[in-house]
Amino acid sequence: MRRTHRVSNPSPRWDVTVVGAGPAGSATALLLARTGARVLLLDRARFPREKPCSEYLSPESTRVLERLGKDVLAAVAAASPARLTGMKVVAPSGTEVVGRFETFSFALPRIRFDTILRAAAEAAGAEVREGVKVEEMLYDGGAVGGVVTRDTGLGTRDTYRSRIVVGADGLRSVVARRLGRVCTIGPRRIAFTAHVADVAGVHDLGEMHVGRPGYVGLGPIGGGVTTVALVVPQPEAWRSAKFFDELNRFPGVAGRFDARRTVRPLMATGPFARWSRRAVTDGALLVGDAADFFDPFTGQGIYSALRGAELAAAAILDCLTTGASLRQYARARRREFAGKWLLERLIGIAVGWPALIERVVGRMSRRPELVDLLVRATGNCVPARAALAPAVLAGLVL
Ligand SMILES: Cc1cc2nc3c(=O)[nH]c(=O)nc-3n(C[C@H](O)[C@H](O)[C@H](O)COP(=O)(O)OP(=O)(O)OC[C@H]3O[C@@H](n4cnc5c(N)ncnc54)[C@H](O)[C@@H]3O)c2cc1C
Repeated sequence: MRRTHRVSNPSPRWDVTVVGAGPAGSATALLLARTGARVLLLDRARFPREKPCSEYLSPESTRVLERLGKDVLAAVAAASPARLTGMKVVAPSGTEVVGRFETFSFALPRIRFDTILRAAAEAAGAEVREGVKVEEMLYDGGAVGGVVTRDTGLGTRDTYRSRIVVGADGLRSVVARRLGRVCTIGPRRIAFTAHVADVAGVHDLGEMHVGRPGYVGLGPIGGGVTTVALVVPQPEAWRSAKFFDELNRFPGVAGRFDARRTVRPLMATGPFARWSRRAVTDGALLVGDAADFFDPFTGQGIYSALRGAELAAAAILDCLTTGASLRQYARARRREFAGKWLLERLIGIAVGWPALIERVVGRMSRRPELVDLLVRATGNCVPARAALAPAVLAGLVL
């Protein structure tokens, strides 16, 4: 049974404790600290830290970065990111289509991107503590009132009390598990990612190659380096042992990677998908992957983390200043993300059906405007509902 830690002192030192300094946590902390809120940002890792990801920021992420601060956007632009102008989707047979963004998207190593955001949160006034793992919640009269932590080096336990706790601790969020039911749903996949230099034929496109089974996502991240992810159903995890052989079974990838040019070894993550039934409770809320993560195929996770941070910060500020309920955050999330959730789910399921993808890519090769629409909808440049219109769905499969 879970232990319940109680607090009694009504005036905690912090207004908000943010658990996790990834994009969701750092952006939330930055936005709150900038208004003068007393923010504590905790992460079990020490930065700079790696994160398995395909490292593409969908085009609309640029707008959120700009809203986080011109200095934040300038720091990202100065970190030598690649600039992607669209996405290529390749069916199992090798048939391919290319959809273009209206603008471009940045792609850069997470070790750099996340460090920029973490530093921006600190510069905005958040107090950052690294090597601090959150293990339990503190409760005060039934509401969350802080966290219990363990120092990852010394092993010592500590408590931090705050008026609100934000769970931004990613896919296997401790905060989400402590707050309520975390649902895992199919398809259950795992991912293996690497960085490789001098990959043939990589220019200004992200690429998604669907195979039997699984898929590969790859793209430039600046400095002549390509990030590559192999995503397979969980029972196929053994395939990672022959990572580069596995890449060669995708017709559009075969022969392009030289294993000797690996610059960052293989990392694994998953299984996904999972989502939390309770993104908000008294005194706490979830943001980013801690709230929901379905499948990386559409590359929307970082945007969702950043945009979710904006929604979370707005609800928290309202709560701190007027006493309004945090539950408005759940409504704001539904309004903002309902279409995206559906699109992401549909695509995530479809890529498990190679014959369906073959058909859809075949249809798209004759209707380039549909490819652009789909790529822009997953890039958050146009509302997801535009791609979910019955006429569009019919055009993709019938
Ligand atoms: C294979 C793969 C490819 C992807 N490719 C893309 C892509 O190209 N584009 C895109 O937009 N998205 C992509 N995503 C999704 C994206 O990586 C996530 O959606 C994004 O990282 C979510 O950010 P976050 O801040 O919620 O979580 P995270 O980035 O996971 O950050 C969570 C932080 O919490 C910390 N933490 C965890 N537990 C604790 C604890 N108990 N106590 C304290 N700290 C803790 C961690 O150390 C970490 O720093 C991909 C995902 C996968 C798996």
